[in-house]
Amino acid sequence: MNALHPLRLVQPGTVNEAVAALVENPEARLVAGGTDLLVNMRRGVQQPNLLVDASGIPEIKQLTLNADEVTIGAGVTIATLANDALIASRYRALAEAARTIAGPSHRKVGTVGGNLCLDTRCIYYNQSEWWRQANSYCLKNRGETCHVAPNGNRCHAAFSGDLAPALLVLRAEIDIAGPNGVRRIPLSEFYAEDGKAHLTLQPAEVVVKVRLPTNQITSSYQKVRVRGAIDYPLAGVAVALSRSGPDIAQLRIALTGTNSRPFLLAGTDAFERRPLDDQMLKEIDRRVQQQVQPMRTTLMSANYRRLAAAGIARRLTTALFNALEVA
Ligand SMILES: Cc1cc2nc3c(=O)[nH]c(=O)nc-3n(C[C@H](O)[C@H](O)[C@H](O)COP(=O)(O)OP(=O)(O)OC[C@H]3O[C@@H](n4cnc5c(N)ncnc54)[C@H](O)[C@@H]3O)c2cc1C
Ligand code: SF4
Repeated sequence: MNALHPLRLVQPGTVNEAVAALVENPEARLVAGGTDLLVNMRRGVQQPNLLVDASGIPEIKQLTLNADEVTIGAGVTIATLANDALIASRYRALAEAARTIAGPSHRKVGTVGGNLCLDTRCIYYNQSEWWRQANSYCLKNRGETCHVAPNGNRCHAAFSGDLAPALLVLRAEIDIAGPNGVRRIPLSEFYAEDGKAHLTLQPAEVVVKVRLPTNQITSSYQKVRVRGAIDYPLAGVAVALSRSGPDIAQLRIALTGTNSRPFLLAGTDAFERRPLDDQMLKEIDRRVQQQVQPMRTTLMSANYRRLAAAGIARRLTTALFNALEVA
């Protein structure tokens, strides 16, 4: 990796000041924990001339329980989320996802906002400058061709953040501050299926907080990765489920690591008001395999990631359904 290029750093004390700094300098980037951005900068894939450091903004560091929602500031660290008793008891999938992110030192400084805004990943992109130059740059950075799908004109780099699928099944919304004030959107509208432009964040916008309704159903998250102790998801799945007697009452499944965006599996309402049986598990498997789009962006084969995603979805759905039966 290269040394960091020369740059300036500003340290705003409020979200408004951060937005103003980003408006003033369109080349600037917000940095939170820096565990993703600084690595990319040292690889030369991102080279902002100014960093706007969000670590000194108290208003985005709160984790608060209100009457009907929990709000999690974008600056809350992954370690805080992983160790919080309220999160573990009400939002199990979120706590489980947080505990699988990177290693202890990354979790200590890495943040919720940084995790949701994580850059997409690909073996042709997450490489040193000299490697990418030697192998001719690709469409996502400086090149003209995608080495994964050379006949297409889009980047298929995969979104590999662990929190997003958990938050999607928990029906999260996010507050985003920008030059025109604050807007609130469902998290599902935050992402687009394009590895080069996977966030719907507008210039100078900052994620401020995540909102989670307090009325929740049981949920869980699992992922497969190359190194069990520290690694991004090759495929990650969150499931939220409730029962009504022998039937499924509600079922939501969300995925990460397989597409350029994390997404809620479409069509799970067809499984509601039906008992969980082998036929339904086959249908869940089929829907997952149809909707995931893993490409050759990791050393692990795309088909393995497809099968793993379907397998985890079946396994988690079964486990949550059975656990509610004995509860
Ligand atoms: C070895 C290693 C292993 C890792 N493993 C995992 C893993 O298993 N799972 C996983 O999910 N991640 C993993 N990561 C990535 C990273 O550590 C985490 O995703 C972390 O949560 C990122 O948060 P951060 O605050 O450090 O982000 P930063 O690096 O500070 O920022 C990341 C991006 O988000 C933007 N950003 C940050 N905050 C905001 C905000 N409030 N509003 C708008 N934009 C914002 C930044 O501009 C930047 O583009 C790993 C990283 C490393 C180095
Ligand atoms: S998917 Fe293609 S364009 Fe995107 S990072 Fe990989 S090689 Fe580059």
